[in-house]
Amino acid sequence: MKTNNLTILADMYGCPNRCKHCWLSHMPNKKMPDGSDEMIVNYFKPHFHSITFYSWVREPDYCENYVERWQRDIQISVNAKPQRFELASFWWLVRDDNYVRFLKSVGVNTVQLTFFGTEEITDWYIGRKGAYQELLQATEILIDNQIAPRWQVFINTENATDIIELLAHSKELKLSERCKTFGGDFSFFIHSGSCDGENRKLYPLRINKEDIPAELIPYYINFSETKTEAELCAILANDDTCFAYHNENEITLNIANNFDVYFNFTHMRPEWKIGNILTDDSTELVRRVIDEDIPALRLARKTPTSELVKLFGNPQSHKIFDCVDDYKAYMLNEMIKEHS
Ligand code: SF4
Repeated sequence: MKTNNLTILADMYGCPNRCKHCWLSHMPNKKMPDGSDEMIVNYFKPHFHSITFYSWVREPDYCENYVERWQRDIQISVNAKPQRFELASFWWLVRDDNYVRFLKSVGVNTVQLTFFGTEEITDWYIGRKGAYQELLQATEILIDNQIAPRWQVFINTENATDIIELLAHSKELKLSERCKTFGGDFSFFIHSGSCDGENRKLYPLRINKEDIPAELIPYYINFSETKTEAELCAILANDDTCFAYHNENEITLNIANNFDVYFNFTHMRPEWKIGNILTDDSTELVRRVIDEDIPALRLARKTPTSELVKLFGNPQSHKIFDCVDDYKAYMLNEMIKEHS
């Protein structure tokens, strides 16, 4: 019996960046073989009412023929249509004049660009020289084409002061005023991000809540709801519920370029793998998806949060976490790593 609506995010082309905060984790860039899109959709088609297919899970549109690719994603989807988001390829924005026109033509009004401070530190975090200048250039291209840039900034101990400079630079560039001339809304926001994927390696650099510079607090998303690790340990010390990711009717799967299948919960690491399209029978793999039957989730469902706090919490730490679930996910991944 067919059930649920499925969204597929397939890593068909990879990503030009190697961001040190990437929640998905770093994976090799490899173009998937021609016909992989159809093969993936056909694999799941017998089991789902509708399938929305995206040919990217990392950098959107990161292929030469991005226009045809978008049309193909629409065509290959079943009883569903892929959407555009506030995400785009800044790689293409600065390399191909037609790309911004393509974004306009598919109704994109805002594009998020990710910074980590000024030039040196942003290049280091994105993993390639020139990234910061490309982000500034992309900002100009977007505004010239009446698309509002949204600057997302990740903060750590080492870049807090640098972000003050970046904020000042965004003001010098008059980005808010310039976006208003076409009814757009420039925004600048800061957060620490989750603590999975590559960002988990940055745990030692996670900033203490009291060290967030006062002038950046107005730009920090929901700052009043952030907590220190010590506060979270106290809140969760007696929490006997288990933190296990769970899907309702809508299921999203990430497909790696070697056809490994993952939920889009937390990172794409081996311990979260559901199966492989090339080697697993689709009925069995879909059963694991529907029943959420993988070792990591089985372990999550039988471990109370209070136990995670005992094993992995640090009640002395003032490191900031943006929400309770980010901290639970961090502790859960610590435990899963120990069991794998
Ligand atoms: S965060 Fe996005 S742009 Fe950066 S490496 Fe990961 S997928 Fe690529």
